Amino acid sequence: MNKKQKKVLIRIIVSIALLTIIAIITSEGIGISVLSDNRIMQLVLYLIPYFVIGYDILKKAFKGIMNRQVFDENFLMAVATIGAICLGEYREGVAVMLFYQIGELFQSYAVGKSRRNISELMDIRPDYANIEGEDGLLQVDPDEVEIGTIIVVSPGEKVPIDGVVVEGTASVNTSALTGESVPRTISVDDEVISGCINMTGVLKIRTTKEFGESTVSKILELVENSSSKKSRSENFISRFAHYYTPAVCYSALALAVIPPVIRLIIGMSPEFGNWVYRALTFLVISCPCALVISIPLSFFAGIGGASKAGVLVKGSNYLEALASVKHMVFDKTGTLTKGIFEVTGIHHNELEDEKLLELSAHAECYSNHPISKSIRTAYGKTIDQTRVTDVEEISGKGVTAKVDGMEIAIGNSKLMEQMSIKYENCHKVGTILHVAINGAYAGHIVISDVLKDTSKEAIARLHKMGVKKTIMLTGDSKNVAEYVAAELGIMHVSSELLPGDKVAKVEELLDAKPEKEKLAFVGDGINDAPVLSRADVGIAMGALGSDAAIEAADIVLMDDDPLKIAKAIGISKKCMRIVYENIYFAIGVKLICLLLGALGIANMWLAIFADVGVMVIAVLNAIRALMVKKI
Ligand code: ADP
Ligand code: MG
Repeated sequence: MNKKQKKVLIRIIVSIALLTIIAIITSEGIGISVLSDNRIMQLVLYLIPYFVIGYDILKKAFKGIMNRQVFDENFLMAVATIGAICLGEYREGVAVMLFYQIGELFQSYAVGKSRRNISELMDIRPDYANIEGEDGLLQVDPDEVEIGTIIVVSPGEKVPIDGVVVEGTASVNTSALTGESVPRTISVDDEVISGCINMTGVLKIRTTKEFGESTVSKILELVENSSSKKSRSENFISRFAHYYTPAVCYSALALAVIPPVIRLIIGMSPEFGNWVYRALTFLVISCPCALVISIPLSFFAGIGGASKAGVLVKGSNYLEALASVKHMVFDKTGTLTKGIFEVTGIHHNELEDEKLLELSAHAECYSNHPISKSIRTAYGKTIDQTRVTDVEEISGKGVTAKVDGMEIAIGNSKLMEQMSIKYENCHKVGTILHVAINGAYAGHIVISDVLKDTSKEAIARLHKMGVKKTIMLTGDSKNVAEYVAAELGIMHVSSELLPGDKVAKVEELLDAKPEKEKLAFVGDGINDAPVLSRADVGIAMGALGSDAAIEAADIVLMDDDPLKIAKAIGISKKCMRIVYENIYFAIGVKLICLLLGALGIANMWLAIFADVGVMVIAVLNAIRALMVKKI
């Protein structure tokens, strides 16, 4: 509890105590007889707890009137309670204010708690970093560590800053980041990201980023900012409250005036007091707090639950859109396939295989593309970057570079066509990398990728969850693309696309579908940032450490398991279900109570209990969105 909440709690306790004392001393029989008959004295006494508990509400209501923003909850409460007191229902007036404050306290506590919960649940914020000082290890604030510093992470500690291992081997647990519980083994030269927990050996790590730029900081920033992007349901609720409250106030006024006047006209006694009381009850019941609070809270909890499972959602609007995704577009390499290519053949080359591979690996030495990495792995020897100059990566085509002064071009047939080099087609199924040296064709390397183990199941689950159309877009050749699509059960496929073509294709798909059905694009973040931002929902997977993807995507999957996509949709659907449950429940109970109030069946006590009760139930239901099973 924070200071403000504590203060409210004290006011609640004090006013309950005062209310009890006053009730006793003014009651007939046991009370002080002077007081039990004197209404004026009673009024004065009850006004003390009334102001103790309600002064801030009255002040806010008054300010609202002054600023011409009359109709809000404070106004409702002020009018209802002042009205009750004017009618001589002192105790009820105070009690309504009291319960309202209890409800408010409860919700502010719940919101604060779930907000904190998310950071706590993720439990990734490191408190310190160990650096080697003159006499042993020194604990410092991670913020103060400069790039290139050697930090030491012992077993049981969190890696505070992104870096590269320079000494030691350890198995690290990334479950706080990815929801994945299988530990990963890392050793010298491996990159580590902050937020992992070192489970076994001592690691020395050379930091490659500042704390503020490290994965942990980025993730926390993202999660904490996510509530600023409002969903349609949230906007609906604020618009709803905008019309609803004035409507309720005018209805209450009508209820207080019209029936008595009619009664007067037809010759009955008007019973003004009774009708005003009903109108005030109506006001208390109508307070929309349960709705106003529980909807954003549900989204907040949903986002929190998702992050626990390794799914980062950048705003409730995306969570909402994800629940109605009907068209799912995938990138191939690195998304559905592992992106770890193996060389399966080298053809039409005049140079030795080894030499061709050496030149290719050098030309590819600066690129992060899965193909480049695989070629370097296939070459297997250390790469001397000083032999390489003039590197140019042509997105969706390949790379050109000078190696030992020779102009090397390596890429697909598009690259060869662009450079007007005649190339040989290959009879094998696989990704073909043509190599040209000084403008002359030098043969091709056939590489092939492996499907991820869970891709097929993921696609099947998506179809089961109501995704109507699955589409794969790839820059790879037609035969590879068709093979992969058939193997995985993907419905449509477009191949040999440049990154720009992928955007055009997605735009085409966006135009062709009904507005209500959302389109999501899933990519690995390598050269597909434009598509990620174009889709209704851009999902980047395996994005740990790739800042560009974290920036461009709306939803970030912390590991590269395609099943996480289905998981994310499942989470969003559950969250939306809770949101609607709360909307229907709160509005339903309100309508019933309003009716009972207007008919004079519900009194103010019931009204305030209904209000606080609905709110508590709605808030507890919202918190349910936090509970997410890990896979
Ligand atoms: P995907 O759509 O499957 O993710 P990309 O758009 O990244 O594929 O690449 C499409 C094609 O362009 C690859 O299949 C490959 O033929 C060629 N290519 C892209 N980058 C490189 C590279 N760095 N080296 C060689 N070829 C490349
Ligand atoms: Mg790609």
